[in-house]
Amino acid sequence: MLPIERQRQIVAWLEEEETLSISEISRRLNVSEMTVYRDIKPLLEDKKITKTSRGVSLATIGHIPSNSCTNCLKELNNRHPVQIITNDQKVEQLCCPHCGLLRYRDIEKNVSQIICRDFLQNTTISGKLAYFLMDADFHLNCCQPQVLTFDSLKYAEQFQKGFGGVIFQFEQAIEEIVKRMNGNRSCECHQLGGSYVDK
Ligand SMILES: [Zn+2]
Ligand SMILES: [Zn+2]
Repeated sequence: MLPIERQRQIVAWLEEEETLSISEISRRLNVSEMTVYRDIKPLLEDKKITKTSRGVSLATIGHIPSNSCTNCLKELNNRHPVQIITNDQKVEQLCCPHCGLLRYRDIEKNVSQIICRDFLQNTTISGKLAYFLMDADFHLNCCQPQVLTFDSLKYAEQFQKGFGGVIFQFEQAIEEIVKRMNGNRSCECHQLGGSYVDK
């Protein structure tokens, strides 16, 4: 196997199994650990994979240096970011579910995963299975129309009881945002993220 083939194989395993130790990779590929280290070096440099306590895993949440939202280019400092992992294993960071959903719509065919956070528990969830609350009387101070994400309908409804709003599922939420933005590409992010505008 060529190094490039081994790299593809390692990434493919990590997609399935999340984490692999260097010794396990070396055993499976039947090459020395030195060779494995050489193979994964470019993957680490490209931030496609990351070192963990148990070996290596795909670079996802928490491993990527945060900088700016792929959709609105605002600095990422929101506590409810969204990650999109593309089919070629690039990780895109979005400032909030609003941008996450719009970005998903833009590059839908190239999306492998969209990962959101449950608003109450901060656990990670697949965007496609999440529930989205709009019009709630609670302000994230990010992009408008604002969207909050929840792991289950139960949590979304609990939050809705206190803060109002309308609950949508994935596809509906995208349609709703697009409809409300009226074909406007800018999501008012820049007007709203106060500290960003002041810089
Ligand atoms: Zn954004
Ligand atoms: Zn935002």
